[in-house]
Amino acid sequence: MATLEIRDLHVSVEDKEILRGVDLNVRAGETHALMGPNGSGKSTLAYAIAGHPKYDITGGEVLLDGESVLEMTVDERARAGLFLAMQYPVEVPGVSVSNFLRTAVTAVRGEAPKLRDFAKEMRGAMADLQIDPAFAQRNLNEGFSGGEKKRHEILQLEMLKPKVAVLDETDSGLDIDALKVVSEGVNRFREGGETGVLLITHYTRILRYVKPDYVHVFSAGRVVEEGGSELADLLESEGYEKFTKAGASG
Ligand code: ADP
Ligand code: MG
Ligand code: MG
Repeated sequence: MATLEIRDLHVSVEDKEILRGVDLNVRAGETHALMGPNGSGKSTLAYAIAGHPKYDITGGEVLLDGESVLEMTVDERARAGLFLAMQYPVEVPGVSVSNFLRTAVTAVRGEAPKLRDFAKEMRGAMADLQIDPAFAQRNLNEGFSGGEKKRHEILQLEMLKPKVAVLDETDSGLDIDALKVVSEGVNRFREGGETGVLLITHYTRILRYVKPDYVHVFSAGRVVEEGGSELADLLESEGYEKFTKAGASG
């Protein structure tokens, strides 16, 4: 069973400490929502786990099934079963969605899928997400709308079948129909109960469709409150303010 363990993680960007001791465990079958105000360091956590070079790990550990993720290359992280959907995906001119997905699937599975099998699998996953088949030939992230970027993230999730997925602001910029399609995708991914999800979000609305088992409130670079899905309801009605104050004094 997959487990992602974040232990006392400290991260700095340009010598400024952003994460100040984050502890969080995500086990297979669990969905965790990490919620917090803008600038509290949520994306920094995602980038640090992803191995972005700008983010210096100054203390702590990130383990996937007991193996140190921080010592892995970005490719090794993906092969180990970690999926990280970034809030601002990069454009890759000249690489089509289809080529990108086949390369990613090959890297993660350790062998290239047969072209016909792959095409069939991709078409099925795209149909599930109500993505136009022509999308496969588009250049990666080039001119993608917010909704297309998010659907593409979930398409990757369905194709790569990671053990643990970290989704950063997967809900931002989506209209209600797209939000439902994306949420259904996340729910399909959770279905088997063998995968873990860390859903990072500022807003509570995606949590109406993707019910988290645990909610963590993030403020000033650390978790300041934890609870079940009722905590998201409390945040919706009362906002972050009382937790932000707790974070500032702690
Ligand atoms: P959130 O995702 O919760 O809105 P971020 O992790 O994006 O928060 O940002 C947390 C803090 O870290 C902010 O003060 C932000 O300015 C700073 N920060 C994050 N990434 C960078 C970066 N690449 N360069 C400089 N500062 C950064
Ligand atoms: Mg803050
Ligand atoms: Mg962010």
